[in-house]
Amino acid sequence: MRLHEILKHLCEPAHMPPVNPEIAGVVYDSRAVTPGALFVAYRGFHTDGHAYIPQALERGAAAVVYEDPAWDGRVPVPALRVPNARVALAPLAAAFYGHPGRRMRIVGVTGTDGKTTTTFLTSVALEAGGAITGLMGTVDFKIGERMWTNDSRQSTPEAPEVQALLRDMAEAGCSYAVIEATSHALSARWNRLAGSAFDIAVFTNVTQEHLDFHGTVEQYRRDKARLFEMLAEFNDAAAPFKQRKIAVVNADDPHHRMFLDAAPVSAERLTYAVHAHADVRAEDVRSTRDGLRFRVTTPWGAADARLRLTGDFNVWNALAALTVACAEGVPLERCLAALERVPGVRGRMERIEAGQPFTVLVDYAHTPGAFEKLFRIVRPLTEGQVIAVFGSAGERDRAKRPLQGEIAGRFCDLVIVTDEDPRLEDRAAIIAEIAAGAEAVGKRIGETCLCIPDRALAIRTAFAYARPGDIVLLLGKGHEGSIIYGTTPVPWDEAAEARRALAELGYGG
Ligand code: ADP
Repeated sequence: MRLHEILKHLCEPAHMPPVNPEIAGVVYDSRAVTPGALFVAYRGFHTDGHAYIPQALERGAAAVVYEDPAWDGRVPVPALRVPNARVALAPLAAAFYGHPGRRMRIVGVTGTDGKTTTTFLTSVALEAGGAITGLMGTVDFKIGERMWTNDSRQSTPEAPEVQALLRDMAEAGCSYAVIEATSHALSARWNRLAGSAFDIAVFTNVTQEHLDFHGTVEQYRRDKARLFEMLAEFNDAAAPFKQRKIAVVNADDPHHRMFLDAAPVSAERLTYAVHAHADVRAEDVRSTRDGLRFRVTTPWGAADARLRLTGDFNVWNALAALTVACAEGVPLERCLAALERVPGVRGRMERIEAGQPFTVLVDYAHTPGAFEKLFRIVRPLTEGQVIAVFGSAGERDRAKRPLQGEIAGRFCDLVIVTDEDPRLEDRAAIIAEIAAGAEAVGKRIGETCLCIPDRALAIRTAFAYARPGDIVLLLGKGHEGSIIYGTTPVPWDEAAEARRALAELGYGG
């Protein structure tokens, strides 16, 4: 694609650089520049990208977009100065990749909690209608049947990666892309999702978090509400399937109004709730060891729902998913049938089923707060034992270790302390610090608190102690793919290991 084609949305024809080279990529990291790239230089929070313009040129950059007037006239290739180059990155990337968001229906999910689960369930519910769906989340990426782990540390990738992935989705024949939209990615400062051409915006809930980045609660809410404003971004008569815009919000959240208000006037508005009055409602919610049951009433009919997900909050996530899918024309029964098959999102209260008479859940909870929340949900689900297997990372927050032991000790019948990324620390010492917390609340080492460094053996021990009706919690690793011993990550797959251990006991097959 030629430079002018990429710049035309950002720049008056009179200000176009006179030379119009072929562009091979849009890049913001000079180390990633390959010949023909358009290098985008902006002042970062730590480094100034302008300092890397010479390196980008050495590596063959064919053009530069920058923001610092000090570089005017100093760039020997076609160059354009814009007021804010970071904010320009997303529209430039969208243009370079041929605006892939305009070729599919794009669903964005924002909120403090439940984004990952809701995006995943939404893709499942949309697929129940026969659509090929793409997914961009914190844990996984997915295009149709192909699923892979999101290795980047950010939940929403940078704009060029977002647009490249959307392009891959469009080319694979996806009619939907479901995107987890964090407030960072949405904020005016990053603008990472601009140009994605959202059609459906979903709001889960908002609580106080990330305030260091967003400044105030108010600003944080506004950043999240931007997703709803972005429904106005692309609405072209030439693409009739992109004209229907839908705002979906959780009416149980006291702030849901501002999200509805942020959507364009012409957008359809749908609410879901467990408590409040809403278009889509769940009633008679019952939480059991096997999952959740409730009655759902919608503008498209009513039905009984039965999910294999653990945690009452998953009722909201499922309601959001089915609101989107039903609004898009998927029959309610089909949506529910598909949602009922979901054993959980990978590594988040993920149910491992091989026909064993006890429940096994894999969850990434690794902080005292998450432990407390999880045990409060799980403890009432069984009259039997709750058995927890977990550890604590080496060379990280030491203060949390006894707290983890204490909380697990209070809620669980049996605590099994094991390895979890010991790194260069002494494994036995980490485990002893955790066990001391459990001991402080009455657990006896060697009896109701076992110290088993080998995680595979710890899991097998938990299963050996489990009786019918018990719940075994495997905590801390979630979907992570390794355990770090010393400085070496050793491959690890908690769910697979649990399945292997169950198979050794004769379950599954
Ligand atoms: P996110 O991607 O927004 O972090 P997840 O779906 O991964 O959300 O859920 C993270 C945690 O937040 C869950 O383990 C659960 O404790 C909690 N949670 C999930 N969904 C909701 C919800 N709808 N409301 C409140 N809490 C939730």
